[in-house]
Amino acid sequence: MTARILVVDDIPANVKLLEVRLRAEYFEVLTAGNGQEALDACEHGRVDVVLLDIMMPGMDGFEVCRRLKADPATAHIPVVMVTALDQVADRIQGLEAGADDFLTKPVNDLQLLTRVKSLVRLKSLTDELRLRASTTRDIGIEELLSRTHPDLFARPSVLIVDEQTSSSEALSQMLGDKAEVTVEADPQAAIFRAAENPFDVVVVASRFADFDPLRLCSQLRSIDRTRLIPIVLVVEDSDDARIVRGLELGINDYLTRPVDRQELLARLDTQVRRKRYNDHLRESVARTIEMAVTDGLTGLHNRRYLDSHLQTLFDRAVARKRPLSIVMLDLDRFKAVNDTHGHDGGDAVLREMARRLRKNVRGIDLACRYGGEEFIVVMPDTEADVAELVAERIRSEIAEVPFSLGENGPLLTVTVSVGVSTLQRGSDAPRDLMKRADLALYEAKAGGRNRVVARAA
Ligand code: GH3
Ligand code: MG
Ligand code: MG
Repeated sequence: MTARILVVDDIPANVKLLEVRLRAEYFEVLTAGNGQEALDACEHGRVDVVLLDIMMPGMDGFEVCRRLKADPATAHIPVVMVTALDQVADRIQGLEAGADDFLTKPVNDLQLLTRVKSLVRLKSLTDELRLRASTTRDIGIEELLSRTHPDLFARPSVLIVDEQTSSSEALSQMLGDKAEVTVEADPQAAIFRAAENPFDVVVVASRFADFDPLRLCSQLRSIDRTRLIPIVLVVEDSDDARIVRGLELGINDYLTRPVDRQELLARLDTQVRRKRYNDHLRESVARTIEMAVTDGLTGLHNRRYLDSHLQTLFDRAVARKRPLSIVMLDLDRFKAVNDTHGHDGGDAVLREMARRLRKNVRGIDLACRYGGEEFIVVMPDTEADVAELVAERIRSEIAEVPFSLGENGPLLTVTVSVGVSTLQRGSDAPRDLMKRADLALYEAKAGGRNRVVARAA
């Protein structure tokens, strides 16, 4: 795992100590001796995780963290606060400043590496999503990045998987009203629960009479609906081997018994915040992708989508020796509609046109708005005569039922000219199909409009 870690501490020996251990694991290490240097490094360098000392002259660690989290350019960089042993007050203040995790001095090797690795993994996922979201210039992105989205702070729902009632009760009690807690004693039932309910985090206890809790972790990771749920393992104090194995299987974090309430809350909070942040990013990426291939006015696919899918449909038809037809439609004298009823009137006609088109084609047909008042339907498995029949049905349904321009608006007779082409055996390409449909459409216009012309060859 190559990642760039920024170590911030005013005492050079402390910096050196962490630097050496991290370099031994092949991390790239940057260092800063004070708060301002740390901020500069985050702003200018590509930093993946910050290890931040709290007590520093001038700007202390809390202030550095607050500033990093307040700036949308650096808010997504995970910050680990390095606190003196058992300073509960420090942890609370760190959380308030937006810290993602804590390490206590003296820093334990296993903890250092697992925390850093887990945060690097989360960060690289976030980076990828951020990149995709920003290259498609999503509008919701700034709001997300400032971490002010209200959903990010809703009460998390936590699934505790624990066979021992005393232990699950203790954990529930620690969470109190900070979380919506569900307890499941049976690990197999837990899988189903996790798959069926949108939990924010799963806490897996390690003490089962005859079940390996790591099996549960690996099952959660392998099922599609649960593979992104954060998993926090609760282990016995000396169980390093299990922790290492768990991290290899993809658990996100661990807690050692006896569980400290502050630590439990802080670790779950970090996981939940990261998950929600990434969920939002993922949704916004999906939405942007959908926006990129959908026509905003009619909800049909757009030209870009058609251009990228026609080849696929075409190749499939050729490979399976199946027919394929294209229906190209262009509204007649549409300019006059705009001139008489305004642009909004024209838009209403386009929407209604799309609705009737959708109603008359099958699910496997690809209907799209190709340009202004031009539509295309690609019909797999459809011979020329059938395509012509469908085209005629669409044409007549448009011509015979007047369009209404809004509720109680004027009724308007609209007609459409249609060109149909069908895949020929031999040296046809998608381009040829489109060209023949276009020629047929031209003929329909020249022949007087409101008609269908098919071009077999
Ligand atoms: P023809 O029968 O020869 O196709 O005549 P036409 O008027 O339909 O064709 P032309 O290509 O001259 O005009 C198309 C018009 O469609 C011009 C343009 O303003 C209008 N148009 C294109 N996109 C939109 C749109 O999104 N909304 C509205 N309201 N009008 C649009
Ligand atoms: Mg037209
Ligand atoms: Mg036109």
